Formats: sequence, C-alpha cells, structure tokens
Amino acid sequence: MRPTTSDCPCGSKRDYVDCCGPYHAGEREAPDAIALMRSRYSAFVRGDDEYLLRTLHPDHADREAGDPAVRRSLKETFRRYRYGGLRVLDHRLPGSDGLAEVLFHARVREGSRDRSFVERSYFALDGGGWRYLAGDMLPSAGLKGVESLTLEAFEKLLEASR
Ligand SMILES: [Zn+2]
Repeated sequence: MRPTTSDCPCGSKRDYVDCCGPYHAGEREAPDAIALMRSRYSAFVRGDDEYLLRTLHPDHADREAGDPAVRRSLKETFRRYRYGGLRVLDHRLPGSDGLAEVLFHARVREGSRDRSFVERSYFALDGGGWRYLAGDMLPSAGLKGVESLTLEAFEKLLEASR
C-alpha cells in the first residue's frame, strides 16, 4: 500500500493525528522514552524546533549554548538533512537512576551523502514528561547488520570506535 500524506513520519504506520501529532501540539506528553524518541524524530522531519527544544532535558549539554543557539542549530539541521526513516532497535526501561535508553537507526541524507546513524539515547523525566538527555551515535553507512543491532552490541562498537 502506498503511504499517504497523513502517515506519521516516525514510521508507526499510524495517522499523524493519532501518533506524534498530539505530542507536537502539546495536547499530551509522550508516555514513555520510545514514544518521545519517535516524536522527536518526526519533529526533525517536520522541522518543529519548538518541540525539539521543549523536549530537550534541562541538563542536556546543548542547553549551555542557550535557546537561541539551539534553535539556530536545529534550523541548520532541517535545512541540510533529509530524513528517510526510523527504526527502533532496542531499549532499556528506566533503572534506579531514572534513565531510559533507546537504540535507534535513522536514515538521513545530506545531498548525495549518506548521513544515516545509529544512536543510543538517554531519556529522563523532568517533571513535565520524558526529555532527551544525551546520546552517543555512530555512522551506520559501513555497519553490518544494523537492523538487528542490540544495545549490548552497540556499546561494544562504541568502545571500539574510541
Ligand atoms: Zn509518530
């Protein structure tokens, strides 16, 4: 079946208005870290810097630069990159430290260049809802078996790359 324009950009195969739409509109908070991550991906696709800023944890390193700088860099990202799909690969429920982890693969292009990557993101509650705290990414262009990658396997790759 051909996708229609109402399909949510996060790839859930659900309608945008029944998926990430209500989170973007501020009608509801994403109920868990995976839903938040998916909604942030679709916010990148839609160029929604307001939502991306709102769901950035107060302790995220990017916050140090200040909101206007974060907004500028997001807009630059929207201009340069085209998004081709998201897949959630693995996740860990929040531990005693309150951190949830999500491993995902995002297909991204910058002109003719493949900028796709795998990222392990950390999410934490800030009182309002789940927020993006930090992430480690690896380019996925040369990675074999990306679609079956686990958090454990990703952590080994990350260590080997340092
Ligand atoms: Zn969605």
